Amino acid sequence: MSEMSFAELGLDAAVLEAVNAVGYETPSPIQAKSIPALLAGHHLLGVAQTGTGKTAAFALPLLSRIDASTAEPQILVLAPTRELAIQVAEAFTTYASKFRNFHVLPIYGGQDFGPQIRGLRRGAQVIVGTPGRMLDHLRKGTLKLDSLKALVLDEADEMLRMGFIDDVEAILAKTPDTCQRALFSATMPPQIKKVAQTYLKDATEVRIESETRTVERISQFVLPVYAERKLDALTRILEVEPFDASIIFVRTKAETTMLAEKLSARGHAVAPLSGDLNQRQREQTVEDLKRGKKDIIIATDVAARGLDVPRITHVINYDVPYDTEAYIHRVGRTGRAGRTGKAILLVTPRERSWLRTLERATNSPMESYQLPSPTDLQKMRVQQFETQLLAFAEDGKLPKAIALLDEIAERNDMDMAMVAGAMACWMEMAQPGALPLEAPEALPEISAAPRRDRKGPPPGKKNFRKGPGKGFKKDGKPGHRKGGPKGKPAGKGGKPPSKRPAR
Ligand code: AMP
Repeated sequence: MSEMSFAELGLDAAVLEAVNAVGYETPSPIQAKSIPALLAGHHLLGVAQTGTGKTAAFALPLLSRIDASTAEPQILVLAPTRELAIQVAEAFTTYASKFRNFHVLPIYGGQDFGPQIRGLRRGAQVIVGTPGRMLDHLRKGTLKLDSLKALVLDEADEMLRMGFIDDVEAILAKTPDTCQRALFSATMPPQIKKVAQTYLKDATEVRIESETRTVERISQFVLPVYAERKLDALTRILEVEPFDASIIFVRTKAETTMLAEKLSARGHAVAPLSGDLNQRQREQTVEDLKRGKKDIIIATDVAARGLDVPRITHVINYDVPYDTEAYIHRVGRTGRAGRTGKAILLVTPRERSWLRTLERATNSPMESYQLPSPTDLQKMRVQQFETQLLAFAEDGKLPKAIALLDEIAERNDMDMAMVAGAMACWMEMAQPGALPLEAPEALPEISAAPRRDRKGPPPGKKNFRKGPGKGFKKDGKPGHRKGGPKGKPAGKGGKPPSKRPAR
C-alpha cells in the first residue's frame, strides 16, 4: 500500500470528496503511480489486472481534468464485456457523484439502439462501452468525439482475445490527436504493444510488480464464491476452522465496521481495525486480540501493517488484495514466531485470475478450500450442541433446575422430552448468533479455473455484481442466512461453555 493519501495527489476537490465518501483509505499502488501521470496529461500504459483498483486509477484523474459543466462526451472508455462496461460506468458515477448535471452512459451490444441514442442526445460527459457498439454509433453519427479529452482502453488484452482489436483501432483512429490516452492490460501481447506504440507515444508506463517471495509455514487456500455469498462462506469457514485468532482483510474502512457488526451478531468476539480509529484505539484493539478478549479482527491493509500477534492462526482474505505485495504482507500476519498458519482467499468469478498471479508471486500452490457440506455442518452443530449440553449437565445448579422443570411439566401436562425440546428452541431464539440445528442450504459452487468465455450474460441478465449471470453453474439467489459462532471443541479455545453462545 502507498504511504500517500488521496488528498496529496492533486485531484479535483469534488472528486476527492466523492472518494472520501466511498471510504477508500489510501490509494492502491496502481493508483499512486497512475494518478499523478494522468493528472499531468501524459498517456499511460498500465500493466495491471482486475482487483488492483485500476478503474479508479484512471477515472479519478481523468474526471479531475474535464469540464464537468459541458455535457459533451469528454471521456470514452472501451471495455471487452458488457458487464465490465456497466461496472466501470457505475464506478464513474460514484466518483462523479459530487458533480452536478453529470451523466455517465454505458453503451453495449445486445441493448436497443433507442435508449442509447436518447442518452447520447441528452448528453453525457463519460461514455463507457464495448467496441462494436461504440463503432456503430460513431458510424451512424450518433456519437461525436470532437470534444473528447481522454480515451481509455480497459483490459486491452481481453479485447484482443475476443477479436475486438480492429474495432478498437478504428475507434482510436477517430479520436482527436490531442486526446489523452490510457491503456490497461494484464498482459502485453505484441499486438497490444503495437497499439501502444502507435497511439500512446511516450506513455508513462506503470506496472504492478509481482515479486516472488515464499510464504513458508503458511498453507494457502482459495475459495471461489459469488460476491453476494461471501458472508455466508465466511460464516461457515469460521464455524469449521479451529482457529485461535483470525484476521480478516477487507478493502474499505466502512467494510471493517459493517463486517464486524455482522460477525458480532453471529456471536463472535470481533473488532474492526482501520484508519478510522485513533492510535490509542488501534493499540487497544491489538491488545484485545493479543489477550484473547477478541478472537477476530477485521482490518484494512494499512491498519494491519506490521501487526504481530502470535496467536493469529488464520488470515482470511475476504476481499482480494490490490497487489501481490499486499497479499504477502497479509498472509504474513500468521505463521508468526515459528508457528504455522493458514490463509484463505475468497475470489469472485471476476477475480479468479488472482489465483495464478498469487501462486506465482508466492512460489507455492494454493489448494482449493472445501466448505463443509450442509450434512457435515449439521452433524457438527448437533455434536457441539451435545458437548455443551453435557458440560451444563455437570453444573451444580442442575437439581434445582430439574425440580423447577418437573413442576412446570406436571402443571402443564408435558413430558420431559417436550420441555427439553421447548428449551432447545427457546435457546435458539434467545441466543444472539445461535445456529439452527437443521442442515443449512448448500452454497452455489463456482470453479476455481479461470473462465475462458468472458462475453458476459445474455441480454436482460444481470451482471456479476448484481446477481448470478453467465458463469454461474447453479442459480444461487442472494440470501441472508442465520449464521453462528464457531464452536471450539471444549478446552481448545480455553473458554468455559457458559461464556459462549449455547451452540
Ligand atoms: P478494480 O481493480 O478497478 O476492478 O477495483 C477493484 C475494487 O477495489 C473495486 O471494488 C473498488 O471499489 C475497490 N477499490 C479501488 N480503489 C480502492 C482504494 N483505494 N481503497 C479501497 N478500495 C478500492
